[in-house]
Amino acid sequence: MVKQTNTQMTVPLSGRALLGWRILQAVFLVAGLGILALLFFAPQPGIHAFWNGLIPVAPLLLVLLPGLWRNVCPLAFSAVLPHRLGISKKKRLSVARQGKLMLTGVVLLLLILPWRHILLDTNGPATGLVLMALGAVAFYMGFRYEWKSGWCSGMCPVHPVEKFYGSRPLAPMPNAQCTSCHNCVIPCPDSTKFLQPQKQGNTRFHKLAATLLVGGFPGYIWGWFHIRDYYGTEGLRHILFAYAMPLAGMAFTLALYLFLREIIRVEKSLLTRVFAAAAVTCYYWYRLPALIGFGIFPRDGMLVDLSAQLPHFLPYLLQVATLLFFSWWLLWKPHTQTSWTIRPPFVGSRE
Ligand code: SF4
Repeated sequence: MVKQTNTQMTVPLSGRALLGWRILQAVFLVAGLGILALLFFAPQPGIHAFWNGLIPVAPLLLVLLPGLWRNVCPLAFSAVLPHRLGISKKKRLSVARQGKLMLTGVVLLLLILPWRHILLDTNGPATGLVLMALGAVAFYMGFRYEWKSGWCSGMCPVHPVEKFYGSRPLAPMPNAQCTSCHNCVIPCPDSTKFLQPQKQGNTRFHKLAATLLVGGFPGYIWGWFHIRDYYGTEGLRHILFAYAMPLAGMAFTLALYLFLREIIRVEKSLLTRVFAAAAVTCYYWYRLPALIGFGIFPRDGMLVDLSAQLPHFLPYLLQVATLLFFSWWLLWKPHTQTSWTIRPPFVGSRE
């Protein structure tokens, strides 16, 4: 029997608290299904709600309360559904396979994001189909593998970013997905304190995934924001360019990361937090102004156009505030080490 090695207290959820979480999960599921329906039947409001309403909140949530995100994500519902229906094959993942899934998640993330500019940001049904495909894969991974190991803690393309941004959560949440622990993945990302991508495993797949993400993601985000959204089929003629800018930015920060890690030998966990602060700052540096009509490309990613009402120095204030906040949160603020969620009591063990 292999036990989890990096654990904290185990606390079961009381019936009332669990009911509250189930209601919250149902609200997010219904909201998710509502947005999905909008993407097909009223694409403009759907695109607005998904890409300009929901998604811009996600990185902040991953920094502050990744456990909340893990509890209410509709794709997580899809991933654990086979277990709740009693039809999962509950296959155990080897450590090497966990590493391969983690690398697959990083590659998926890097492959999917440019398609936002090429097609998804301006095409509701295409976004809806991608979400449905991800939901189907999440369901299959839950059907095949033990509990959350295949998707939520494995191949999900958001999971590497959770580990990258979420090393200093505000507080541990109750674990509302795992009411009891099946010991499905070691170390458990939900229950391990101060988890970072490079601490998930030691195979070459784990290492490659962590290095690509931590070193490359800040530059990738910078490059991504310097591509405009294409309309209709125009994006199909710019696929190479849509990939080239993010990958060029990624190559630059990856080289810098390797230099600092291997030559200067900056401590790894600190370097990871510096690069996480850079990545999430870069995201909001461009995203916040764009949401209110001050973006680099006028129509792209705009929630509401306030450019005529607000002073033109406001975006700069937002950018400085973003830089200060995430630097403080990830680098300077004193933290008690905590996990994303509180581990539930064990009921299972590894064979
Ligand atoms: S708490 Fe247990 S069952 Fe839930 S994800 Fe972690 S290891 Fe798996």
